[in-house]
Amino acid sequence: MKAAFRRPARAGLAHGRVVALAPGNAPARGVPRANPLPARRPVWLLDLDNTLHDAVADIMPRINRAMTDYVMQTTGLDEPQASALRSAYWRRYGATLLGMVRHHSVDVHHFLRETHPFPDLHRLVRRDMRLMHLLRRLPGRKVVVTNAPAAYAAGVIAALGIGPMLDGMVAIEQMQFAGRLLPKPSRPMLRKVVARLGLHPTRCVLVEDTVDNLRAARHCGVKTVWVSGIAYRARPVWLRPRRGQRGIDVHVRSVVQLARTPLFGHVPSPVPEPRP
Ligand SMILES: [Mg+2]
Repeated sequence: MKAAFRRPARAGLAHGRVVALAPGNAPARGVPRANPLPARRPVWLLDLDNTLHDAVADIMPRINRAMTDYVMQTTGLDEPQASALRSAYWRRYGATLLGMVRHHSVDVHHFLRETHPFPDLHRLVRRDMRLMHLLRRLPGRKVVVTNAPAAYAAGVIAALGIGPMLDGMVAIEQMQFAGRLLPKPSRPMLRKVVARLGLHPTRCVLVEDTVDNLRAARHCGVKTVWVSGIAYRARPVWLRPRRGQRGIDVHVRSVVQLARTPLFGHVPSPVPEPRP
């Protein structure tokens, strides 16, 4: 999401507090580095969709429709075949995009632009005063780390009105290393993001709805918070997370409950079965 760093006003990322995450550990040109913070303060790596806001009802169905259309147009397959191909790429690579890049030579930026058609994002994303209040109070830097494209993520952040509370953003366009796209849950990508922030992994906390991403982060030494409420409701019963998820330090149902969790010097708490 380098675009948001170059155009911080678009996402509302302002006040000279933007963390630079340009390739090669160098700050994006013209973007000041965040001031160093006391070593004990955490750095929050915040997922976006279904963690900071609910994308289930209005946003995900449109992305799914657009991705299937894109696959149909690119490959000439009919809809059932395109859906099956998407599923196969999802299982093999973790994302439709990665399969389309590898096997159909699609342009990453074209794919992301065509599959995130949201000129009306401000009407689909609900501003939550509790989230704004939480982010204002949460100590330490806050960086959005999302597998979504930069333009879309910037739009969501602007619609949520949380840009001024954030210190930076890493979107999928920035998750390219050695010419390969490595979105979450890639461990090399997570290590690189943490390194670019100039941090030790144990100082970072990943806040996420996707358990696989949390497991990968914990393997890298990052502390983990599972936000289960939105994604739990969205999944069919047989796909819902179960009791005793490994790779999770803290479990909350809503991100606004973060303020109640003792996240540093904490003992990992047992993960209860989330209720619908
Ligand atoms: Mg998510």
